[in-house]
Amino acid sequence: MICEECGGQFEKPKKGPRKRFCSSGCRSRAWRRGDRAAPTEPGRNRLALEETLRVQPPPASTAAHIEAARSLADAVDGDPKNSPLWGRYLDALERLADLTVAEEEAEIDAELDKLRALGPRM
Ligand SMILES: [Zn+2]
Repeated sequence: MICEECGGQFEKPKKGPRKRFCSSGCRSRAWRRGDRAAPTEPGRNRLALEETLRVQPPPASTAAHIEAARSLADAVDGDPKNSPLWGRYLDALERLADLTVAEEEAEIDAELDKLRALGPRM
């Protein structure tokens, strides 16, 4: 048999389930690498985030924060029991919400300035 991690040959076990790796070292190396890799399919947090971004698109000025929130959503999906990671994800969402509100207020101010400019000059 061929080890999926190091490619080395190893004996097929006489009984028990079919093995994929030649040793426990190779098995844990492969597991760690797989764990670090981003999930290929978006997880439920990433999907929920994308849905929110679609329904309520944040301003373009927050693009970097959106990307940060996306990668944290992926990280949380890959490791849902990691509470510090959850904290960072929730912080990123809050920052995004704050920036969105700030941007909208600035837009409303700009609109009000235009209305004010239409008024009589004093
Ligand atoms: Zn191996």
